[in-house]
Amino acid sequence: MTIPATGRAGGAAPGPPAFHLLAKPTGATCNLDCAYCFFLSKEMLYPGSRFRMADELLEAYIRQLIEAHRVPEVTIAWQGGEPTLMGVDFFRRSVAYVEKHRRPGMRVEYTIQTNGTLIDDELAAFFREHDFLVGISIDGPRAMHDAYRVDKGGAPTFDRVMRGLELLRKHGVEYNALTTLHHANADHPVEVYRFLRDDCGVRFMQFIPIIERLPAPSIDVPLEDLELAPGLAVRAPWTSWRDRPLYRQEGELVTDRSITAEQYGAFLVGVFEEWVRRDVGEVYVQMFDVALAAWYGEPHGLCIHSETCGSALALEHTGDLYSCDHFVEEAHRLGNITETPLAELVASEQQRAFGLAKRETLPRHCRECDVRFACHGGCPKDRFIRTPDGEAGLNYLCAGYKAFFHHVDGPMRAMSELLRRGRAPAELMARYAAEDVRLRDAAARAGRNDLCPCGSGRKVKQCHGRT
Ligand code: SF4
Ligand code: SF4
Repeated sequence: MTIPATGRAGGAAPGPPAFHLLAKPTGATCNLDCAYCFFLSKEMLYPGSRFRMADELLEAYIRQLIEAHRVPEVTIAWQGGEPTLMGVDFFRRSVAYVEKHRRPGMRVEYTIQTNGTLIDDELAAFFREHDFLVGISIDGPRAMHDAYRVDKGGAPTFDRVMRGLELLRKHGVEYNALTTLHHANADHPVEVYRFLRDDCGVRFMQFIPIIERLPAPSIDVPLEDLELAPGLAVRAPWTSWRDRPLYRQEGELVTDRSITAEQYGAFLVGVFEEWVRRDVGEVYVQMFDVALAAWYGEPHGLCIHSETCGSALALEHTGDLYSCDHFVEEAHRLGNITETPLAELVASEQQRAFGLAKRETLPRHCRECDVRFACHGGCPKDRFIRTPDGEAGLNYLCAGYKAFFHHVDGPMRAMSELLRRGRAPAELMARYAAEDVRLRDAAARAGRNDLCPCGSGRKVKQCHGRT
């Protein structure tokens, strides 16, 4: 194979000076079989493949990624499937290629997203040596995690993940948590949050809502017998990668494993109410950072709530480059970096159009929404319900986004104001503490069956008067 030597083809419009790319050295292959994982089925895109990134491609990828960045830092991000299936020597070679090709003074950050079950002492020591930031996929306490995160034999994985986490802590590796939200954990925000904070020692959390779309013909019930509404949850006809059809971002139904919009909003609000009282400045929740940036008027880098996207691509083990990790589909394949330089593919008209479509396809309901500045309509993959006036393209999570962004309006204004005055947003915690004392005193003076003075609409005994 002849791999292009230069980062940019002559005459091509320059792409973004920096971009994010998730590389999948094992493709979609994984040692687990999480019931909700849309990505496992992507193995079908490469029938007969060994699902191992070849060494020649690894070097070409690292070289092209470095060449395509016109900023002094680059992130090498590994993801899957399960990237640790490649073994530690693959990552050693990747670091050696980085050292060979990096420009003088260039900073390189390494990240890897893993299910954590294959981490051993050697891998953890390697991660520490090269300052990898390790993202661990964990869905909460044992029962919530094991509800869907099982191995290929259907066995639970909680203990193996916790062992991997322990090894990271033992070796002093920096780690964060990626927690998917679904039917089994979405109603337990405080329990999930405290588990991650206290039992796992996580200081940076990402919560990813599971929205598993389902085309109507894939369910085994005559449609005329059902009143199917967009966003309606139906039982998933599969639970394993063995019988799962190739997943595409299609369909207006969702599986019953999926979170509802209302659950998502309530989950974020529940975590926020715990966080804002004791953890501001200590624990970072991605969505809260995003909200604060929006209220403060700064960019935040999370594509889902940015006006446009297109700077978060995915590279398959073959060198195929896709517009986004969620759109590893033939229609969104930009090309192969062994044939066309990575920088040229990133700068292509196809990718530019992909990113702009996020803004151009917003329904009027979003364009006129009071929290559009923070939400921007969410990810296009989730825009499959209709607005109240019948326009297509509203985000399935809209009700949850609205509930959360409205709920945090006051505190986000307050934190932004503190920042503008050069003070720490954490000062807000003292105001919450004082207000809580005031409300508890007021509740103590009220009858237990009276409405709580905090305005929640609940009785005192179920709210601030609860012992
Ligand atoms: S499609 Fe969604 S996940 Fe992909 S880059 Fe755009 S906003 Fe991000
Ligand atoms: S909250 Fe709903 S209406 Fe508002 S921008 Fe987001 S998705 Fe659109």
